Amino acid sequence: MSRSEHTQYIDGAWSQGNATRQLDVANPATGESIAVFAESSSADIDAAVRSAAAAFRTWRHVNPHRRATWLQAMADAIEARLSTIASTMTREQGKPLSEAEGEVGKLVKTLRYYAGEAVRVCGQIIPNEDDGFQSQVEHEPIGVAAAITPWNYPAELIGWKLGAALAAGCTLVIKPSEYTPLTAVEIVRAIDEAGLPNGVVNLVQGAGEVGGELVRHPAIDKIAFTGSHATGLRIYETMGRIKSVSLELGGNCPLIVAASADLEAAVAGAVRRSFRNMGQICIAINRAYVHRSLYDEFLVRVAEATGKLRIGDGLADPGVDLGPMTNAAGLAKVEAHVKDALDRGARLICGAKAPDNRGGLFYEPTVLADCDADMRVMRDETFGPVLGVATFDDLDTVIEHVNDSPYGLAAYAYATDLTEVYKLSRGLSFGSVAMNCVDAGIINAPYGGRRQSGVGYEHGRAGLDGYLLYKHVRIKHGVQG
Ligand code: NAD
Repeated sequence: MSRSEHTQYIDGAWSQGNATRQLDVANPATGESIAVFAESSSADIDAAVRSAAAAFRTWRHVNPHRRATWLQAMADAIEARLSTIASTMTREQGKPLSEAEGEVGKLVKTLRYYAGEAVRVCGQIIPNEDDGFQSQVEHEPIGVAAAITPWNYPAELIGWKLGAALAAGCTLVIKPSEYTPLTAVEIVRAIDEAGLPNGVVNLVQGAGEVGGELVRHPAIDKIAFTGSHATGLRIYETMGRIKSVSLELGGNCPLIVAASADLEAAVAGAVRRSFRNMGQICIAINRAYVHRSLYDEFLVRVAEATGKLRIGDGLADPGVDLGPMTNAAGLAKVEAHVKDALDRGARLICGAKAPDNRGGLFYEPTVLADCDADMRVMRDETFGPVLGVATFDDLDTVIEHVNDSPYGLAAYAYATDLTEVYKLSRGLSFGSVAMNCVDAGIINAPYGGRRQSGVGYEHGRAGLDGYLLYKHVRIKHGVQG
């Protein structure tokens, strides 16, 4: 993508933003500026919402089988552009190319999944107490949805909203992160190629102010937001009128390694889920609690496995395991959390520095032992490659301890003893619980946070339901018996 290209898409046409503010997109592996784009102005945002509202009047009544065909066509077009979208993502976000390709593949899978779900939206007939009446419950699409997304999974997180919204009969205005605008442009180019009716999908660009304007726009009926807890709370406070809202927010996700755990599997899981995408995953493991009988061996093996991870520029060397952090603010937060833990007496096992001879936003994956509950790594979201580790003796006590957190997104546990497995799966109060594995999300099961980690669900039928309204129609037809 060259500098200053048209990056917003409104009513089926590409244009430059009209705001005076220009934003820069940098490659986090090199620091090099790769694009400059203009933010969308208030007039642009209004035009995008009006276009989505006009398209909704028709799209809501398009036969669901036809909508499913459009979703498949979009999936085909994105699949055909997979390598371009993936390399764009690596260039602006930093993750290794193979992971970016995998992510675009998941976007395609999501659209195909929701193509299947589109034709399974059906109502109910409810028995009435009195003869001569029929109650039927219908589902109708909510209306115009705003999809506001972060930079860590810039394709997949658009896909969850795009697939469910369009399948339900809603139309969409997408506002991607200001750090990853170009991945969204490439996705929408594919949507444009698929020939979707004008206005069904629109794209505006910019930072938080643009998101805020979209949130407050009176013609936005649903806000589908993924991002930080702080922004989620601001959206709740500032939306100004009653709207449907789903908030997928941050977490501080625990791992429990019980006495009966398969240690080798637990170590592999901890390293994968703490450091993948440089820990910039909402469901990353932030804090591990290891039974005292396994603690020392766990630390030795985690350090060994972490030391084998290769860090580098994921575009120049697609075989690396980890790229750079995506932005300087994220790196600064990581450094602050590590310093806080070390100042409070944590023991450094590995990492806590930039790799030798590298520019860019690189940082070595870091393991900290003997952590306590006051350290920021054990209670806040680090959103970086840092794992805090503590020991425990009693399983019931540690379950109670990890639940005592404002966050409730995901939890992980390793155990082979049936009683321990059952205690953990029943006791952990999180939206997703992964036992003896660390890949909690599958597209056909609901995904959402508890407590301050959010409200509403994505994935699965629950994700589609978030774009639907119920309508109860009670008909007096007079037929007796
Ligand atoms: P962020 O909250 O800073 O930004 C997210 C999006 O919101 C961006 O597009 C941003 O421009 C926009 N925004 C900022 N201020 C806004 C406002 N006042 N009104 C409306 N929109 C606004 O988050 P981020 O740094 O891009 O992403 C990292 C965060 O996202 C982490 O906390 C992570 O846990 C969370 N996340 C959650 C999930 C999940 O599924 N629960 C998935 C991925 C990331």
